[in-house]
Amino acid sequence: MNRLIVISNRVSPPMGDGPGNQGGLAVALSAALRESSGIWFGWSGEETEAFTGHINFQRSYGVTTATVDLEAQDVEEYYNGYANCTLWPLFHNRVDLAEFERGFAGGYERVNDRLAETVAPLIEESDLVWVHDYHLMLLGRNLRTRGVKNRIGFFLHIPWPPARLLESLPGHGELFDAMLDYDVIGFQSENWRESFIRYVQTHTDATIDQDGTITLGERRTRIVVCPIGIDFAEFHEAANGQTAREFYERMQRSANGRTMIVGVDRLDYSKGLPERFLGYERLLASRPDLHGQLFLLQIAPPSREQVRTYQQIRATLDSLSGRINGEFADAEWVPLRYINKGYPRDALAGIYRASRIGLITPLCDGMNLVAKEYVAAQDPDDPGVLILSQFAGAARQLTDALIVNPYSPDELAEAIDRALQMDLKERRDRWRSMMESIRNEDVRWWQACFTKALAGGQHEPLPED
Ligand code: UDP
Repeated sequence: MNRLIVISNRVSPPMGDGPGNQGGLAVALSAALRESSGIWFGWSGEETEAFTGHINFQRSYGVTTATVDLEAQDVEEYYNGYANCTLWPLFHNRVDLAEFERGFAGGYERVNDRLAETVAPLIEESDLVWVHDYHLMLLGRNLRTRGVKNRIGFFLHIPWPPARLLESLPGHGELFDAMLDYDVIGFQSENWRESFIRYVQTHTDATIDQDGTITLGERRTRIVVCPIGIDFAEFHEAANGQTAREFYERMQRSANGRTMIVGVDRLDYSKGLPERFLGYERLLASRPDLHGQLFLLQIAPPSREQVRTYQQIRATLDSLSGRINGEFADAEWVPLRYINKGYPRDALAGIYRASRIGLITPLCDGMNLVAKEYVAAQDPDDPGVLILSQFAGAARQLTDALIVNPYSPDELAEAIDRALQMDLKERRDRWRSMMESIRNEDVRWWQACFTKALAGGQHEPLPED
């Protein structure tokens, strides 16, 4: 078995036993790293005065992590700047929110180069190198220029934007060209793969084989779709554990016979929260008979709070939630419980189970794991209904959800109404079919799917090799 070198912006070493609170990604990668005696390399999350390239090695629960500190300017330009203010909005269809600053692009190039310089000496001949996400798109190129000939793969956790949108990014051609230094590129859904291929067709002379291999000059890059899943076994254990049960019971008591609808999202403009609230408002406005019968619990822990666009979306939601409750609440009933704090995943499992409807309606989302967790947490005898945006990567797998256009308040209101009326047989049938894909295509399947493609054959040497 080849040793695996995982490279990602942040490193989350395993935290030991106890289900429920560690990300599925960390669990899957840790398992793969442990089995192959690999290394997980990335930014420590700490800032330092001047970049030294000093690597801090640690070992926890059988996994070796290797982290470096970054300079304050690096963090500002590479992470807060290019990653979160340029690429994130652009890759989530929000070119209107994207900031195109030369300084950000320069910082991104510098940090990708610094990380490549630091990690390159750790890479041994037969290692497989797996780079993660939009923070590190140039890293493969930077390793190649240092003579690294290993198989290097890249997995994009977020959407790949339509070619027309990507064209608004200054330097998109160079960024794209660097991607073809990877041997394998993985996407969450067929939608993002199609956008990537469209870009190849409109901007390059590359040929594309039946199996998704792109050939440009001497370089060959295989394109695969491997949707990430949840850690099904771990989540199942958490969902049946003490904390989940406690939260389930607390929510049942607090609902007091009312039907509960739940949404759980980081407070991000890509998650469609204002549109969701407007859809719910439309339902309340058109169906006075439902007043006092149901409520929407929206859990939205703040994220990236130092970024202006995130402060704006928060203000928008404060005002919208206030307006909806101001208009519809009465002394005994509040229609919208809007909460700006996070819950541990085992608590969420109990909350999901207590909810008749999971309302997951992002405007654009690479995958959306909450949708899968909601389904996995349901009571098999009396499962709830998932309402899912057509623009979440998960919609390509969870085709038995009620799929909606999240921009349409009428469609959202109708879907909630339909979910409220859905009979037990239909709920069970839909739930069973969704559970099958969630169970089979879990996070270990995803990791195996990508590493299998990564291991498949030798890297074609660059002309200058
Ligand atoms: N999550 C959590 N507590 C919260 C809100 C979210 O643990 O209060 C977890 C959630 O269970 C899921 C992840 O954060 O595993 C969010 O992943 P998703 O793919 O839905 O969205 P992302 O935040 O990665 O865009």
